[in-house]
Amino acid sequence: MLMSWKYRLQAAAPFAGIPPSSSPFVVVGVPLDATGTYKPGARFAPSRIRAAAANIEFYSLAAGLVLEDISLNDIGDIALPPGDTEGSLRIIEEVARGVKAEWGESTPIFLGGEHLITYPIVRALREELDYLIVFDAHLDMRDNYYGSKFNHATFLRRLIEEGVKVIHLGSRAYSGEELEYARRNNIEVLSALEVRDGAFGGRELGRVYISIDMDVLDPAYAPGVSNPEPFGLTPIALLRLLKELVAASDEVIGIDIVEVNPLVDVNDITSVLAAKLVFELIGLIEDRRRPR
Ligand code: MN
Ligand code: MN
Repeated sequence: MLMSWKYRLQAAAPFAGIPPSSSPFVVVGVPLDATGTYKPGARFAPSRIRAAAANIEFYSLAAGLVLEDISLNDIGDIALPPGDTEGSLRIIEEVARGVKAEWGESTPIFLGGEHLITYPIVRALREELDYLIVFDAHLDMRDNYYGSKFNHATFLRRLIEEGVKVIHLGSRAYSGEELEYARRNNIEVLSALEVRDGAFGGRELGRVYISIDMDVLDPAYAPGVSNPEPFGLTPIALLRLLKELVAASDEVIGIDIVEVNPLVDVNDITSVLAAKLVFELIGLIEDRRRPR
């Protein structure tokens, strides 16, 4: 008997307390927390972000939109085999493909989990993708990390090797090897010093997938991440960039928000900000879809 990808899912309290329904947005929790070398805890992020979302207004500042009438289809968390990173990546890709096949008209929103989840998700959505847009303090472009090829510090290099076009924003922490790799391969990298309003001005990006590693934000605003790095973006700077980015795109084919670590957070600051970013992106995407 063929096993449906849906058996991979585990029920969770729905995002923002909104009951599942057919919706222009599908929320999927991906609690992968397998390859961290510093502070573990990202596995607790999907449920904490959902809880935070239930306690803030359903409003998008960037879009100027009340979101109360926009439903979310929260399909729960992906159940992942403990200690089996390769198996986890296979299952995440399988579920991402299933979500795409079943709700192709909806925008999937993946709540990590560690940043490695972006690898199988982007592989699943690959055919529709023009640009992968990454916000991150780190490049995640190492060839290997302690001998491992597939982890949070290498995944973006793996995607680039597979031909994915990347624009990277907000970085400020590099290994020499990564810098050289990015230069040699002409990867567009705008560091935290270089990103400005207007970064996407006048561009036509086509269909984009947006990956937000929460450590792109300054630790003052997002203390609950596994690898905090000083000199990060302010939330309002990130919001302006996202607004420009969505305006410069034809379609946002998916989003992930990764690397929230509730175990090292302070008063859920980072989970609340992650939840708010979801609302902002929903507002911007919804606004983009409406006829003008
Ligand atoms: Mn990252
Ligand atoms: Mn990072």
